[in-house]
Amino acid sequence: MIDRPHSPSDESDPMTLAISKSKYVAGLQCPKLLWTHYNDRDALPAPDAAKQAIFDTGHMVGDLAKNLFPGGVEIAWSDDPNGRMEQTVAETLELMKQRIPLYEASFLVDGCYCRADLLVPTAGDAWDLYEVKSTTGVKDVNLQDVAFQASAIERCGVRLDRMYLVHLDNTYVRRGDLDVHGLFHAEDVTVRARALMPDVPQNVQRMHAVIIGERPGTPIGEHCSDPYECDLWPACSSFLPRDSVLDLYRVRKRDAFAMIGDGVMSVVDISPAALNAKQRIQQEAIRTGVTHVQAEEIHTWLAGLEYPLHCFDFETMMPAVPIFDGTRPYQQIPFQFSLHIVDRLGAEPRHVEFLAENAVDPRPALIGALGEIGPEGTILAYNIAFEQARLRELAVDFPDHARPLLGFANRFQDLLVPFRSFWWHDARQRGSCSLKFVLPAITGTTYDGMEIAEGGQAAREFQRVVFGNVGPAEKLRVLLALRTYCAQDTLALVDVVDALREATNS
Ligand code: SF4
Repeated sequence: MIDRPHSPSDESDPMTLAISKSKYVAGLQCPKLLWTHYNDRDALPAPDAAKQAIFDTGHMVGDLAKNLFPGGVEIAWSDDPNGRMEQTVAETLELMKQRIPLYEASFLVDGCYCRADLLVPTAGDAWDLYEVKSTTGVKDVNLQDVAFQASAIERCGVRLDRMYLVHLDNTYVRRGDLDVHGLFHAEDVTVRARALMPDVPQNVQRMHAVIIGERPGTPIGEHCSDPYECDLWPACSSFLPRDSVLDLYRVRKRDAFAMIGDGVMSVVDISPAALNAKQRIQQEAIRTGVTHVQAEEIHTWLAGLEYPLHCFDFETMMPAVPIFDGTRPYQQIPFQFSLHIVDRLGAEPRHVEFLAENAVDPRPALIGALGEIGPEGTILAYNIAFEQARLRELAVDFPDHARPLLGFANRFQDLLVPFRSFWWHDARQRGSCSLKFVLPAITGTTYDGMEIAEGGQAAREFQRVVFGNVGPAEKLRVLLALRTYCAQDTLALVDVVDALREATNS
């Protein structure tokens, strides 16, 4: 149901050899990962907050999808460890006689155990299979998932008619109450899933052999993040040195893993002839420890900034299921901004901010607060495409305010430019031009120790305390942390500009 394997509520028992749909997908990704699930489960880290949020979204979306076929019965996952798979199977067989929709219908055959999100009776004695994902499209890995289930279900003697992948429809716009038939799109994947089904029994046989064997010595490679980021990456990649070839600026993963396979582990070990100009700057910075500075280019770029300088940053949330009228699944909804205004060169920055605090659409009030941006001067952000896109979306959704919003969008300059151009580059960036790497390298400031330290966490915490059920003290605490975090993001822009001026005497 969720578009990740290895959910903590995963439907298999590690004490048995039964392979569930998520373990099947894990087994296709990597034998070592599969083996670890059954033999060294403690090596798998508990899901962090970001991953847990993905799981929670998946479960919420899965529950909503049951409303596509109301009147069904859920096959509950028993807490009793003794024969719980068998219990769910027996219950499924009994309920199938009633020819009603079943949620989590369960099947066990030839070492395969699956719980189907939705199994719906169709013509004659046949059934349709629906796999629910919280994504907005069908991925190849989803087809493997469906094929695994369909193979197991049909080997149990059940006749399947059609197979569907149910996902969120990102063209759906909420108007009033949620319309589940508009929210979801059921894509018929019967032909594509059937094409994969013949391979399932032999794949499962191979996986069983892996599980009962020695830990596989699978080397790291592109499969470590395809189709999912593997939880064992920190352990499996621990042999790599600092500034490994995977940190080479914009390196293709295929090329980096080929180098590792050839024994070339570090950026400094690569022949300069194989590098482009930016990669050579990175290599030289690592080798010498000296920061690369192209003062003339930086000076010219800084001269293009107009004061008052408005250092700006949005925080947004992306609810999988739209909360507000007029919004779509996973639409970016700005709920906070921070603005540090430097009125003239050398002046102390003054701070203006907006943070929604109530469980209503934050955008109308946020648009009003954007009036704090003065009529003149550069608006500066880091990677402006994000801020500009949000302003243009607001202009579409709130056409009465389109003129000033589009006016703001057209005044942006991108502080990313000096770093993406490698006019300033430091080895501590680890080949990244993200502000989270640039800021500590150029100013020494970090986000370490901050209660909220990145945008995803900000969005999760905002939704938790503003739309969830938390006490006033907790809400106040988190709102304060959100203000501190977003303010740091725009003060960072002020500091980076100052640091560039200092480095180039501008
Ligand atoms: S990190 Fe890569 S090699 Fe290691 S278990 Fe995961 S997928 Fe396999």
